[in-house]
Amino acid sequence: MVDSGARGNKDQLKQLSGMRGLMADPSGRTIEIPILSNFREGLSVLEFFISTHGARKGSADTALRTSSAGYLTRRLVDVVQSVVITQPDCGTHEGVRAAILKSSDNFVVEKIEDFIFGRVLAKDVYEPGTGNILVNPETGKVYQRDTVILDDDAKFLSNYKKRVPVVEEKVLDLSDINIPEVYAELAEDVDLGTEVLPSESELNWEVIKKLRESRVKSVKVKLYPIVGSVVAEEVIWDKERKKQLAVEEEQIDVTVAKMLEENNIDSIVVRPEIYVRSPLTCEAEHGVCAKCYGLDLSNHKVVSVGESVGIVAAQSIGEPGTQLTMRTFHTGGIATTADITQGLPRVEELFEARKKTKDPEGIFSKVKGVVVDISQDEPKKIYVQDELGTIHEYVVPSRVRVNVTIGQKVLPGQSLTTGSLKVRKILEELGVEDTAMYLLREIKKVYVQQGVDIHDKHFELIIRQMLNKAEVIEPGDTDFLPGDLVPITILNKVNREIMEGNANIELNRKRVIGKVLAKHILIKNEEGQVVELAKEGEEITEELLEQLIKYNVKDILVINHDKEREVYQIMPKETVKYRRKLLRITQASLEYEGWLSAASFQQTQQVLTDAAIKGAVDYLKGLKENVIVGQLIPAGTGFEI
Ligand SMILES: [Zn+2]
Repeated sequence: MVDSGARGNKDQLKQLSGMRGLMADPSGRTIEIPILSNFREGLSVLEFFISTHGARKGSADTALRTSSAGYLTRRLVDVVQSVVITQPDCGTHEGVRAAILKSSDNFVVEKIEDFIFGRVLAKDVYEPGTGNILVNPETGKVYQRDTVILDDDAKFLSNYKKRVPVVEEKVLDLSDINIPEVYAELAEDVDLGTEVLPSESELNWEVIKKLRESRVKSVKVKLYPIVGSVVAEEVIWDKERKKQLAVEEEQIDVTVAKMLEENNIDSIVVRPEIYVRSPLTCEAEHGVCAKCYGLDLSNHKVVSVGESVGIVAAQSIGEPGTQLTMRTFHTGGIATTADITQGLPRVEELFEARKKTKDPEGIFSKVKGVVVDISQDEPKKIYVQDELGTIHEYVVPSRVRVNVTIGQKVLPGQSLTTGSLKVRKILEELGVEDTAMYLLREIKKVYVQQGVDIHDKHFELIIRQMLNKAEVIEPGDTDFLPGDLVPITILNKVNREIMEGNANIELNRKRVIGKVLAKHILIKNEEGQVVELAKEGEEITEELLEQLIKYNVKDILVINHDKEREVYQIMPKETVKYRRKLLRITQASLEYEGWLSAASFQQTQQVLTDAAIKGAVDYLKGLKENVIVGQLIPAGTGFEI
C-alpha cells in the first residue's frame, strides 16, 4: 500500500512496527528521550505523556491555521480581483531575466526550466559565441521574441550550455558586409590621418563608418564572444586562486571578460541569456496583457482576453495555505540558536511587507564585487571591493552569522549573512526589479519547502500589485500633489506625453502666429499682481508671443482656421518626479481606485469618508464593484474590448 502511494508512508509504518522515535515539544524542539515502543506494542505512561505535547500543538495549529489561511486568501483576492487580461499584447520589450531561483541561504527554490515554462520570450535568445538566434535542432523552433515556451522548449533552453572562448584575435576585412555580431574591440591604435582611434575602442557602427570612410581595408580586432551570456555552472578563480573572477549565474560584461583574459582563462562554459515576459513588467494600463501572462495553465494555450487571472492567482496561492505550517522551527545545531520563520507566518510577513520580521535582519551586498576582508572584532565587518576598486563596508548585526568567505564574488542583492532581508531596504538600494525577485524567491521558498508547487506567475501578479504605485515627490507641471500615490503606468504615460509635448514647442510657436486667442491670458507681474496680458480674440503676433514666453505661459488656447479651439504648448513643461513604493497587500487593497471594492474589504468608515471628501467616482472597473451594483462582471464573456 505504501509502495503504491495510495495511503500511508514509510514514517507511519515505522511508528506502527519499529519505534516511534524522537518527539517534538510545542516549540518544535526535540525532546531528548526517544519513544522506544511502537503502536503495536503500545506506549508506556511516560512515553504517552511525552508524545502528547507535540500532538496537542498539532491539533491547535490545525484549528488556528484554517482561519489564518482563509484571511490570507481574502486579502489576496481583494488585492488582485480587478486584474483581468485586457489586451493581446502590450508591446513591451521589458522582461525578467531567467535565473535559477536561490534563496538567501542558497536553497534552490526553482530551476530555470520551471521558471521559463509557459511564458513568452521578451527578447531573442542568442547562441553564445556566434550572435545567431538559437534554434532547437530537434524541432527546428527558432527562439526569437514572442515565442511561447512549452515543455520541450523549457527543457532545451535550460539545459543548453556551450564552451565559448573568452577572446579571439582576428584580422577583420572591412569590405566584408558581415560585421561580427559579438562584442569586439580594436586590438591596436589605428591612424586615420585626421584622428587616431585608440586600441580597445569598441568596434561599433560609428567606428566602422570612420574606418570605411578613411578607406582602411582591414583592422586587427579582438572578439569577446562571451559578453552578453551567462556563466553556467562553474566558479572561475584567478591565477593565484585568491579571488573569484566570475560566479555561477553571473552575466558577463566587458569588465568581467577582460578580467578573464588577464588571468589567461581560455574558455568557459556559458548558457544564453533568456528574458521572458512577466506580469511584473507588463505595461498594460489596466490588468495585464496575454503575452506577459503567457499560457493559461488550465489548458496550456495562450491565455484569452477577459480571463480573470487575478482571482485565479489569489486562489492558487491561498488554497494551499492550509497545508503550510504555523511553526517556527529551531535549526537544532550548536552553532546557532536562531529560529527560522517558515510557513504561513513567513508568507504573511512577506505579503504584508512587515517592518519587524520574526527572524533577525541580515545584510546584503549593494554592489557586484569581491569580499576582500572580514574583520573578526565586534562588531564584525565585511569589506567588498567593487569593479572600480572602491571598498564598501558592511557592519554585521550581532544576531546573524557571516555566510561569505574572503575571495568570494558577490552580486548585488546577495545576502552576506544569515537572517532575512528588509524588503524596503532592497527597494531603496537596488530598485524594483531586485525587490520583486527577492519577494518571489522568498515566498515561493515557503511553498516549495512544504511540497507545494505553484507557478511563479501567480506570485508575480500579487507582487505587481504591491509594487505598482509610486509616490509623487515633485509634481512638475501636472495636477498631482506631492505625496500622491499614483499607479506607475499612469505616471509613465503622463511623463511620456510631457516629453512629446516639449518636442513640439518650436513647431507650435510658429503655428500660433497669426491665429486668434480663444481665451484671455492672465499673468502675475513683477509686483505679484494679476494682470491681463492679452484679451480674448487678440491676434498672436511675434511681440505677443515673446511676452508670453517671457512670463512663462506654457499653454495657450487658440481658435484654429477651421474655427476649432485647440491648446498649443509654447513653453517646456516639467515631468513628474516620483519614488517607487512598496505597498503591503492590505494597503494596496485600500489604496485601490475603486472605493466600492475598498470599502467592502476593510476599514469601511475611513474608506467611505475619504471617498466622500475627495468626491471620488468609482468607474466600476473591477469585478467586486460590479457584483456590488448587480452588473455583469467585466471578465470572461462579459468583457468588452
Ligand atoms: Zn504586457
